[in-house]
Amino acid sequence: QVAARASDVWRVYGTGEAQVVALRGVTAEFERGAFTAIMGPSGSGKSTLMHCLAGLDTVTRGEVFVGDTKVTGLNDSGLTKLRRDKIGFIFQQFNLLPTLSAQENILLPLSIAGRKPDPAWYDTVIDTVGLRDRLSHRPAQLSGGQQQRVACARALVARPEVIFADEPTGNLDSRAGAEVLNFLRNSVREHGQTIVMVTHDPVAASHADRVVFLADGQLVSELFDPTPETVL
Ligand code: ADP
Ligand code: ADP
Repeated sequence: QVAARASDVWRVYGTGEAQVVALRGVTAEFERGAFTAIMGPSGSGKSTLMHCLAGLDTVTRGEVFVGDTKVTGLNDSGLTKLRRDKIGFIFQQFNLLPTLSAQENILLPLSIAGRKPDPAWYDTVIDTVGLRDRLSHRPAQLSGGQQQRVACARALVARPEVIFADEPTGNLDSRAGAEVLNFLRNSVREHGQTIVMVTHDPVAASHADRVVFLADGQLVSELFDPTPETVL
């Protein structure tokens, strides 16, 4: 089963002299229950591909699916619904709301959607993320690694079809980064979540099941069961 799919996706920004072809016919499948890393040099199209898959950016040509939803062609309210109901996001900058507690941040996407968490799943997420005694803290009272674990819990709590993580360890030291990556990997292994992570860090990528490499807007190779050495 495929959780997300890009089919011959092109993304062209600007026109004439200023035209940039960010994606040149990318076809890729992201299987349900798999952890995939997207790697490639700066400017190779990693963020553009992720944003197109997640319905944060539109494609110039081609098709994108998340689960059985065709993302290409959705209108704004359809895209909002897709992001709310089917997708979890994890960013380099954590993107937590500073005035809310950890627990309120974690539950925010559900509150906005007018939904309540599944109690058993909520407990599982809080326990795996190891934040039980930090739930009433505000982001500023937490370390960077703890803040990113709050962001991971927020992405997971609605059990999205797929989680997109954009350089999730980019602002963390290697120990905090490893904690976040282990947590993400466990949520894939133990709970069948699907994760697509953009990173340029070979150590981060080595936690994935598969790495796909972009160069100049094209998918050039892929690697299964990566190690930090084979990713380089
Ligand atoms: P990466 O994430 O691999 O660093 P990006 O997807 O951010 O690469 O960018 C791919 C190319 O598209 C780059 O040349 C970048 O400058 C260009 N690009 C990305 N977003 C835009 C935009 N909104 N407008 C114009 N050019 C863009
Ligand atoms: P980058 O990966 O290049 O550092 P970001 O991931 O922070 O950039 O954001 C890239 C684009 O995605 C921005 O144009 C931003 O408006 C949009 N974006 C980021 N997060 C969301 C979101 N949760 N909902 C809608 N748009 C978003």
